[in-house]
Amino acid sequence: MAGEPQDDCLFCKIVAGQVPATVVRESETTLAFRDINPQAPTHILVIPKAHYRDAAALAAAEPALAADVVREAGAVAEEEKLESYRTVFNTGAGAGQTVFHAHAHVLGGRGLQWPPG
Ligand code: 5GP
Ligand code: ZN
Repeated sequence: MAGEPQDDCLFCKIVAGQVPATVVRESETTLAFRDINPQAPTHILVIPKAHYRDAAALAAAEPALAADVVREAGAVAEEEKLESYRTVFNTGAGAGQTVFHAHAHVLGGRGLQWPPG
């Protein structure tokens, strides 16, 4: 069922405490932890605890939860004292999505080019 934990999902396992992660923030509905392969001095992933395959599916099913993720991304940036940062939702393998549990990347601590390429 939509939103239910998936046995084969890495981020569901992190939510369940079955895979370790460096958690920086937690709310009732979200978890934020450091990316294992950081692409910037600060690189944190913010996820809904519920399983949705990508950000659009999350927003369609539970718009308030999608808003929680975006708000938590801002809270993470504030905690990390980032003046500027980028929030990224990769959607689909062609855009670099490798984990099919919705997540926001929060990237900062260095100059970020635009367009990103
Ligand atoms: P995507 O490529 O799907 O947008 O983002 C998935 C992210 O998850 C990647 O940036 C990758 O480095 C990160 N990642 C993959 N496996 C793990 C893990 O086991 N722990 C943590 N903390 N991050 C992971
Ligand atoms: Zn999941």
